[in-house]
Amino acid sequence: MTLDIAKVALPVPLDKTFDYLIKPNTYPVIGGRVRVPFGRQHLIGIVVALSDQSDFPRAQLKPLGAVIDSETLWSPALFGLLKWASQYYQYPLGDTLANAMPALLRKGREASPTALKSWALTEAGRNQPLISLKRAPRQVQVLTVLQQGTTSHEALLAQEVSSATLKTLSEKGWIEEKIEQPKQNDWLKHFEVTEEKPRLNEEQALAIATVNCNPDYGCYLLEGVTGSGKTEVYLNLLEPILAAGKQALILVPEIGLTPQTINRFKRRFNVPLETIHSGLNDTERLSAWLAGRDNQAGIIIGTRSALFTPFANLGIIIVDEEHDASYKQQDSLRYHARDIAVLRANKENIPVVLGSATPALESLHNAKTGKYHHLTLTQRAGVAQKARHGVLDIKGLYLESGLSAPLIAQMRKHLQAGNQVILFLNRRGFSPAIMCHECGWLADCQRCDIHYTFHQQTGELRCHHCGGQRPIMPQCGDCGSTQLIPVGVGTEQLEQQLATLFPEYKAVRIDRDSTRRKGSLENYLEAIKNNEYQILIGTQMLAKGHHFPNVTLVALIDVDSALFSNDFRASERLAQLFIQVAGRAGRASKPGEVMLQTHHPDHALLQDLLHKGYDSFAATALNERKQAWLPPYTYLALMRAESNDNDQVLQFLQQVRNTFEASPRFNQDVCIMGPNPAPLARRAGRYRWQLLLQAPDRKTLQQLLCIAKPMVQLLPLAKKVRWSIDVEPQDLT
Ligand code: ADP
Ligand code: ZN
Ligand code: ZN
Repeated sequence: MTLDIAKVALPVPLDKTFDYLIKPNTYPVIGGRVRVPFGRQHLIGIVVALSDQSDFPRAQLKPLGAVIDSETLWSPALFGLLKWASQYYQYPLGDTLANAMPALLRKGREASPTALKSWALTEAGRNQPLISLKRAPRQVQVLTVLQQGTTSHEALLAQEVSSATLKTLSEKGWIEEKIEQPKQNDWLKHFEVTEEKPRLNEEQALAIATVNCNPDYGCYLLEGVTGSGKTEVYLNLLEPILAAGKQALILVPEIGLTPQTINRFKRRFNVPLETIHSGLNDTERLSAWLAGRDNQAGIIIGTRSALFTPFANLGIIIVDEEHDASYKQQDSLRYHARDIAVLRANKENIPVVLGSATPALESLHNAKTGKYHHLTLTQRAGVAQKARHGVLDIKGLYLESGLSAPLIAQMRKHLQAGNQVILFLNRRGFSPAIMCHECGWLADCQRCDIHYTFHQQTGELRCHHCGGQRPIMPQCGDCGSTQLIPVGVGTEQLEQQLATLFPEYKAVRIDRDSTRRKGSLENYLEAIKNNEYQILIGTQMLAKGHHFPNVTLVALIDVDSALFSNDFRASERLAQLFIQVAGRAGRASKPGEVMLQTHHPDHALLQDLLHKGYDSFAATALNERKQAWLPPYTYLALMRAESNDNDQVLQFLQQVRNTFEASPRFNQDVCIMGPNPAPLARRAGRYRWQLLLQAPDRKTLQQLLCIAKPMVQLLPLAKKVRWSIDVEPQDLT
């Protein structure tokens, strides 16, 4: 029996692998890349199995092209994890594997550190009179640069020297190539703790001892208010791991990867550290990936996608701010990095620590049921004080661009004392709608079932869903009146109003519109630290991971929209925002204050949160979820479908529903809701419907999906409408 068939996963949207014949003297490996002919093109794929069997006669099979890797790209544990993720999140394996690779590997680049090429002058080159090269200015440029000393190939290319020029010069014998092999960094030999450590408090010591006493798999939920010393716990956990020559992976939310965070790890250990985030270019990304795999980095800190980095010898995973919504990927492989981190730790048999001041209800539930160990830090390290908080009942009050008179008065007090104030409003733009004052007509996006948002700065109406925009119309679209007025308040309007209310103080708006340019967020944050602005207006973005010691008043302008949202997670997010900002306001000498504006000061969740704290809120909210049969007590999958033809989508999802109901795994514990119109029923001209699947456990959910999906794919309408499956969705729109 010879294994002459390679089963290859290709980056194409099909749930299957493809068979190729292995030619003699070529040796593909499982988990390694190969080039294969596919239709009229050539693709790079991953070998997932070697076999002596195929469903097709050998004469029909094409031979494998070049074998790129002689070793697997992933350890068996990580390869297994990727295969599991592909199945669980219902995303094709070839695409999943391609997404888990740095772009350069997808394009066929060698999976090893590239030798560093540089250029130096030869004796002949040194003696060459430059005047003789008048008509070749590029060559003169190269020779001039090299007269200063040997220069790397990359650096020359960066000065717009072409490879052709270098080739010409080297053929003339005037310059020569120097190849330097990449240095191996044996960091373990020099490992040291390079700063003085603070004395741990009892809770910290207990948390560290609990994790350290077992080097095998265990999942630990570290719940500690902001400033209670969670990062200090992480640092202490890393010490014995690194000292034993093992590596650490630290995941942070998208916006949490700040220089301050990185520096704390750099200061503590003299271990090479790599970061992985969306700002890396292709070369940097590959280099960080290789540093993990080849043990050239002791610590990797990264956002969601860093989770799939290979490690030579991983010893621990830490997920900071584990409740953060950015851990869930919203397209392609819709994975949750926290959940997969726990699974990865399990497969690699190492500890995983989930840290947060406001754990996700899912994680608290897992801690309560004993799946996770629950570690708590209740005291703030250092001397910071707890923020005071108050509810502002705004029933019947006149609001000035969303601000009530008592709030304005309170702001004035804090500003006059020389402090800063943050106002939270999760709505960009000037106003969420434009209305005719005479007849009540509203300006709607033509392509979506939604009002245009008015952006006064640019004089535009923008649709926040399809991205469509148009200049504001001069007249009502119905009665022709010119009296068009903004309805509701967005951050832009708030900013304008504040300039009128507080002309003597400078306000800054931090939202997706104002921080679009790269580096602008960092600049704003720096300016805020330097007290250049006194009033900060922000969406959720501003709540994450930043500490503003001079902010003594934080106000949540519109609590009601979260309390009465049709998204069942909205109240959890509000509670997290509240606790996070309350934890970051003020400092020892200047206690902070948090104010909430609401029409419903007696709302049960709000009362729980304010008077008994996050854990009590969570207990109440969990109870509500249990009654309503919602996660974490059930597992959801959301099937989204859209098309220009409304009936087609509806019909398709109805057929999908029938398919599920006919499945042998379907029983009375499973519930299917819909087809229902999506909360945003029309977007960019397409009609959107959804089907929600609710199962009592992950296994049932997965089996249902795995059985039904191939049948759904065979439905004729499956090729006509655009559809996707989101397993354990975070966002139901
Ligand atoms: P968190 O990550 O929970 O917000 P940090 O670890 O950043 O908390 O700690 C907050 C501050 O308290 C930091 O400046 C940190 O250096 C300090 N700190 C942490 N633990 C201790 C301790 N045991 N003794 C003194 N200071 C501490
Ligand atoms: Zn639109
Ligand atoms: Zn009108």
